[in-house]
Amino acid sequence: MDTLDDWFPYDRYRPHQREMLELAAACAREGGIAMIDAPTGSGKSSVVSALLAESSGRKVIVAVRTVSQLTTFLRELGMVRDRRGGALKFAYLVGKGSMCPLGGEGDVYRRCEGVKAFSTALMRERAQKGSLIPANDRQIRQQIRKMDTEHPLICPYFIHAKSYIEPEDAGLRQIPSAALRVRAERLRNEVILPEQLAKFCGDICPYETMMHAAREADVIVVNFHHLFDDAIREQLYQSLEIDGGAALLLIDEAHNCGEVVQSIESVGLSERDIEQAGHELAHQRKASREADAIRNLLPPVARFMEMLKGSQETEDWFDPAIFQRMIMKESLYQSMEAIVDDLLKISEGIREQNIKAGEFRESAIERLCEFFYRIFRSAADRAYLTVYRKDDDGNVALEVRNIDPSTKLQEIAQAHAACVLISGTLSPIESYRRYYFGDLAVRTLSLPNAFPAENRLILCANDITTAYSMRRDPQNLARLDATIRAFATLPGNLAIYFPSYDLLNTFAERSAKAVRGKQVFIEPKNTAEANVALREFLSLPGQRRSGILFAVCGGKWSEGLDYRGEMLSGALVIGLPLAPFNRVRRMVIEYFRMKFPEEGEFISYTLPAINRALQALGRVLRTPEDRGVLVLGEKRFLEPRVKGGLPPWMQEEMRACDSDALTRAVRAWK
Ligand code: SF4
Repeated sequence: MDTLDDWFPYDRYRPHQREMLELAAACAREGGIAMIDAPTGSGKSSVVSALLAESSGRKVIVAVRTVSQLTTFLRELGMVRDRRGGALKFAYLVGKGSMCPLGGEGDVYRRCEGVKAFSTALMRERAQKGSLIPANDRQIRQQIRKMDTEHPLICPYFIHAKSYIEPEDAGLRQIPSAALRVRAERLRNEVILPEQLAKFCGDICPYETMMHAAREADVIVVNFHHLFDDAIREQLYQSLEIDGGAALLLIDEAHNCGEVVQSIESVGLSERDIEQAGHELAHQRKASREADAIRNLLPPVARFMEMLKGSQETEDWFDPAIFQRMIMKESLYQSMEAIVDDLLKISEGIREQNIKAGEFRESAIERLCEFFYRIFRSAADRAYLTVYRKDDDGNVALEVRNIDPSTKLQEIAQAHAACVLISGTLSPIESYRRYYFGDLAVRTLSLPNAFPAENRLILCANDITTAYSMRRDPQNLARLDATIRAFATLPGNLAIYFPSYDLLNTFAERSAKAVRGKQVFIEPKNTAEANVALREFLSLPGQRRSGILFAVCGGKWSEGLDYRGEMLSGALVIGLPLAPFNRVRRMVIEYFRMKFPEEGEFISYTLPAINRALQALGRVLRTPEDRGVLVLGEKRFLEPRVKGGLPPWMQEEMRACDSDALTRAVRAWK
């Protein structure tokens, strides 16, 4: 029988790595859930070897959040395959959003659904006339040439992916084209990275190729949406004939699961959606008897939003009962249930019509339908909170927000034969266990940091804070400035992270002038601009220059980026990056206090802040050779509850110091 060693692709195990892999292997063997907190450098990607060693022919599904994590797993699996003499097939699926080469307006999934239906009808028609290879058919090619590229009705990439056969005992059958099959086979057996895929697939749909490769793969790497979105997962498992109950699931960067599930489970409604829904319903009056009745609901919804504009808050809770009363009062409906039923009927009709017409955007009616359904459910389920948000221009949007991802996470974990969650920042692991899985039995493991301790200096300022009551205190501000100035004297590229854009802007203005000999970069809100600036920052060490980032915790420059070697030599987190406190936050905390009387506030409020800080600091030390200084610029990190939330190795190594001692320690660091 195969052992872990037979699947492990390296010469030797890293410190504590074997312990981690054995826990994962036991989970795969015996079933259940395991959570592993494994700092950078623990070799956590090798957990996939442990699952394979115990898979006994079962499929392994790996869920990742970013393309860079996906690439890490593809490289790891490539090595496992070499170790196994080539006997391992793996494939990956990336969302159509980043892979689909067909242009056009609207939602890519809808567009795909529509063009595939239309292309299939056309290919079938031609195949019935004997043209079994659609890509070679003159008429189809002509239609493609004439097509309006902004509103495509046919997908040439899909057409190249299909052909037809006519078995003697059955009618016409659509099958993957020979060209697609060849590529899919190579995709399963070579390491072709996502950025190489479009070129590799040429005129064949990359998504169809990935799907075909996945069908016979032993391991499939998917993104979080493929796993956590029920509709996408169910469709995917069905078309790949995956039985979750017989598959092993590995979730990477599991500290992000909660947030991703919450965003998938939440639904928003803007003033533009209401306006758009009105136009859509006007066109439905002939086709649907219910359209007028539903249209009469829109003015009260708009009035409800208008009423909220008077509020001073930018985010607050609204009472769903008042919302429902306002809507029902002016309508002919007897219940919300009846409204949802009618909305569902109309939205399905609109969806079909739109797809036929080559219009692939999600309709406002569909959104309205989803919103009403959720708001109706929110009355009975406290895990959903009704919230409104006001933007800088005073526009109001309503949202039914999921605040507790545990039901969905438990459902997904239990629907698989075994589920292993790993992350470099899943600390404290017991809190994450309760947050995600409540009372379920879960194996947990928290590993020490495997990198040499002498390569890092960890400091925590004991005399500065961004606590609201102290933000204007002149002495506190002077010490904050002194800490930033002292930190900025460290050699190499550095990053300073703030709890919010407001504080970032305040301090960037105050402190940037005092930075000597480093190019200053301030995180812009615009993603494209942020990417350009980051590339320039990372290129500086190669030119024997250095820079300093002023960024936001949880922002574009703080998570999921790998600043190896000299790219980043130190990080300072100013403040405890708590989410702004308002009535919504209070309600979330109350909900979790009901669930976990002792720990509810910590889990729902402090834990995400600690995680944001750890993620930001975690950019610095990415390999055993990296050296760097990590500073927590906030005295609240020394409070027992908060300090206890840091990884044990960090608690042990962290030195508390005032701004003078910090200046001395920074100077002494070589
Ligand atoms: S079939 Fe492929 S190329 Fe065509 S629309 Fe769908 S994802 Fe895009």
